[in-house]
Amino acid sequence: MTAKLKVTVWNEFRHEQHNEKVRSVYPGGIHAAIGEGLAGTADVAYATLDQDEEHGLSESRLAETDVLIWWGHMAHGDVKDEIVERVKRRVLQGMGLIVLHSGHFSKIFKTLMGTSCDLKWREADEKERLWVVSPGHPIAEGIGEYIELPQEEMYGEHFDIPQPDELVFVSWFEGGEVFRSGCTFHRGQGKIFYFRPGHETYPTYYNEQVRTVIRNAVKWAAPTRRDYPTYGNHKPLEAIGNKA
Ligand code: ZN
Repeated sequence: MTAKLKVTVWNEFRHEQHNEKVRSVYPGGIHAAIGEGLAGTADVAYATLDQDEEHGLSESRLAETDVLIWWGHMAHGDVKDEIVERVKRRVLQGMGLIVLHSGHFSKIFKTLMGTSCDLKWREADEKERLWVVSPGHPIAEGIGEYIELPQEEMYGEHFDIPQPDELVFVSWFEGGEVFRSGCTFHRGQGKIFYFRPGHETYPTYYNEQVRTVIRNAVKWAAPTRRDYPTYGNHKPLEAIGNKA
């Protein structure tokens, strides 16, 4: 039996402390609701922006993390560049990264994508339907043709990301826009999944199907157990030419 995956759920955790509406939806913080959805699947640890000097993301914490989940919104600029660099290094070494909702504008996502990651948005309590466009993809396992969320924030195209390696979900919104809501990327040895829903004033992270997607994404993004590749000057494996 293989050991349980180690997941660190990172949450900015500012809205919940400053906004009564958000606190009423997520009294324990958004991270707690996300972690609850992973119960039984992974060993979950939590980290938050203001918990310590390193935003809860010490070298040792990251070294012990198979998959990091990232939720941030109002304080992307408060995340220290050295910590972003540290997380990026771990992703390139193989740690999985799941970026949720407004994390599209986080420093870590932008640096790994290399584009503006900008998009259209609107808060109008509208319906969202996330269509599965890669039914054979492991992240869509257990999901029907679509996930319907009665109320969400709208994110619309164009979403300024590099062409995803795989597109798993495409959202339709009541107001007419569409959005690439579930995208996979590979960077170095690491796997990255961006998943759109999860605005802080809606109970999205209690939705069973949303939780299933995040659980599936954790398994998909888990590191592949193998030695890190060797780079640089390399001795030939075979004799080259007629040097025998
Ligand atoms: Zn939002």
